[in-house]
Amino acid sequence: MKRIVLLGPPGAGKGTQAEGIAAKYNIPHISTGEIFRANVKEGTPLGIKAREYMESGHLVPDELVCELVEDRIQEPDCANGYLLDGFPRTVPQARFFDEFLEKMGQELDKVIDIEVDEDVLIPRMVGRRVCRQCGRPYHMITMPPKVEGVCDVCGGEVYQRSDDTLETVQNRFRVYNEQTSPLTEYYKEKGKLAPVNGDAGISEVFGAICALLGE
Ligand code: ADP
Ligand code: ADP
Ligand code: ZN
Repeated sequence: MKRIVLLGPPGAGKGTQAEGIAAKYNIPHISTGEIFRANVKEGTPLGIKAREYMESGHLVPDELVCELVEDRIQEPDCANGYLLDGFPRTVPQARFFDEFLEKMGQELDKVIDIEVDEDVLIPRMVGRRVCRQCGRPYHMITMPPKVEGVCDVCGGEVYQRSDDTLETVQNRFRVYNEQTSPLTEYYKEKGKLAPVNGDAGISEVFGAICALLGE
């Protein structure tokens, strides 16, 4: 049973690491960014509301995010724990989540904070490609799919997110520094923060995360 939050700037490797962590601990990987992208693609009312914020690199308003996560983590597959990727992302979201945990009598195990400098992140993000179907991240230079444009895992189309352009990426870093980075202090005070150096190879980072999470 593990309840884990993955924190870190855009491009830190949250999505990349999530797959292995979810498999190892047998818990669902819940990416709010993926859920929003699926809603935008389907043109749902939520997707219509979220789209403009996402495309300009801003955060979707807290009310929309909190409601969505609250519903998702009450689904049966979360009974044995869950891995949150991209939530919480603001102090009000973290407070909401704490209240939820208390209400449910649940405890958070750890907040894994993947630390990487901005100058390393920019080429990661501009070169990032993602599977439209399963969300798996690739990189056009360092981690291309075996067949160009085709996901190794599910055969879905591998594309570039519209918010991974240099201009939007810079805006997302600003938003991260202003609204998300205060969560580091927030979780440190609660004794939940577990920092990891994300500027290392993918398997090295995975090893460090597993060492922090234990069996
Ligand atoms: P996040 O979910 O935190 O935004 P991703 O997991 O999508 O980040 O990773 C962003 C990009 O960086 C992807 O193209 C991915 O292939 C690449 N990447 C992830 N981890 C590493 C790493 N440890 N070293 C080099 N590149 C990485
Ligand atoms: P990244 O790769 O930058 O970590 P995500 O895929 O997690 O990006 O999120 C993409 C976009 O979805 C964000 O820029 C934001 O607009 C929206 N989003 C995702 N999660 C949240 C959240 N918890 N709160 C507000 N907006 C969110
Ligand atoms: Zn796929």
